[in-house]
Amino acid sequence: MPHPTNLHTKPVLIIGAGIAGLALAQALKEIGVPFLVFERDTAANSRLQGWALTIHFGLPELLSLLPPAVSAHIDSTQVNPALAYDRSDSILINLADCGVKWRLPPGSGTRKRVSRDRFRKLLMDGLTDNILWGKTFVDFTAPRDSETVTAVFSDGSSYEGLLLVGVDGATSKVRSLLYSLESFPPTPIPITFLGTSLHVTGPQIRPVLDLDPVLFQGCHPQSATWMWFSVMDSPSTNGTASLPYDEQVWRVQLCLSWPSPGDEEIPGTDAERVQMMRRKSLDFEPRLKAIFHEALPDDHGPVLRIELADWCLPSQRNMEQGGRVTLAGGAAHTMVMYRGEGFNHAIVDDYKLVAAIKRIYDPTLSERDLARAREQAIDEYEFEVSARGSSAVAMCREACFDVHQWEKLDENSAVRKKRVL
Ligand SMILES: Cc1cc2nc3c(=O)[nH]c(=O)nc-3n(C[C@H](O)[C@H](O)[C@H](O)COP(=O)(O)OP(=O)(O)OC[C@H]3O[C@@H](n4cnc5c(N)ncnc54)[C@H](O)[C@@H]3O)c2cc1C
Repeated sequence: MPHPTNLHTKPVLIIGAGIAGLALAQALKEIGVPFLVFERDTAANSRLQGWALTIHFGLPELLSLLPPAVSAHIDSTQVNPALAYDRSDSILINLADCGVKWRLPPGSGTRKRVSRDRFRKLLMDGLTDNILWGKTFVDFTAPRDSETVTAVFSDGSSYEGLLLVGVDGATSKVRSLLYSLESFPPTPIPITFLGTSLHVTGPQIRPVLDLDPVLFQGCHPQSATWMWFSVMDSPSTNGTASLPYDEQVWRVQLCLSWPSPGDEEIPGTDAERVQMMRRKSLDFEPRLKAIFHEALPDDHGPVLRIELADWCLPSQRNMEQGGRVTLAGGAAHTMVMYRGEGFNHAIVDDYKLVAAIKRIYDPTLSERDLARAREQAIDEYEFEVSARGSSAVAMCREACFDVHQWEKLDENSAVRKKRVL
């Protein structure tokens, strides 16, 4: 019977309780590896991010990682919980006249379209004792004369572990300690992005739902503005189905983006951003224009601005800590959302990282062999993430530029290309 070393009682320190960090935590719980999750938000619901996500190529890996008691409830987090799988088409329209440029069927793969907030809440299931809220990670130490790593937080507390995983998103602090911003800066994308979610009634939304009942995107050939529309919840899921049609409610996600002229100022208030969305949609086809000019109230908020930039774990990786510190999810590869695959890549990261962690927590390893096994396992993990992530980041950037150029939107566009790896 193998005896695990004392080091194997040290936890994996997961920095960030986003969906990638929580999925990793659930997977570690399932295989019995000790872990702690540290989140800078003070509570689970302190900053809801109301967009919907399509889980497609990462779905098999996700289902294999999660404990059955959690995966059994994924459907309840879907935008339409009544569907086992999302079967919506992928549609791109001309925003000037609503002409359909392409309508692609969902293909043979299975997909689920989930509400990010509901899905994240599900991923917290059973982790109450493992998630520490209000913990802003600021630093780590990994002394040469020790085999552990210590995470340091802004409140002065610190925690020792065997591995530290930065899953702290697009502006990762863990990443900035491994790869300085001066030497490895994110690449800014010169596109301005505003997004919001909105409650609308049946009569307000019916003309748009006739274009597609679930989601569509479009480009305006002259202004180069891109629009994203997706249903977040509908009368059948929010309890308004029994009301008269005029009172039934849909919640929809609306995003606009456009090439940024260098001198364009992005206003700071929600009211000014609503006005900006209206200006950008002035020349949209009347049904689309009406969403911004009639359904969107003057005092609506929040209207979020996302500053688009991308980054990927470089091929020349920093292994100075001997594999004690690594990255996953948006922290390892920040990609713009125009191909809708950032989280799917995060799932694949988690899947590969769990395989590496199993090697590190192998109870037959002696204390002497553990450090070497960890360095090798994390090196191989990061090699794969860097190769896969860099091609995905590049493809998403290309898709981002394509969706703002009508003439680029054809069957060869990066928006439609299959995943490379
Ligand atoms: C509008 C939109 C639509 C999208 N659609 C899709 C889609 O359809 N399919 C898809 O695959 N992807 C999609 N994505 C991308 C997807 O949302 C991201 O890839 C995913 O959310 C990344 O998850 P994450 O856990 O790595 O990062 P995050 O969700 O950003 O989580 C990071 C967490 O770390 C915490 N944190 C940050 N800094 C610290 C610190 N110093 N200390 C402690 N905690 C910290 C944050 O508070 C946060 O909770 C979309 C993105 C957007 C914006």
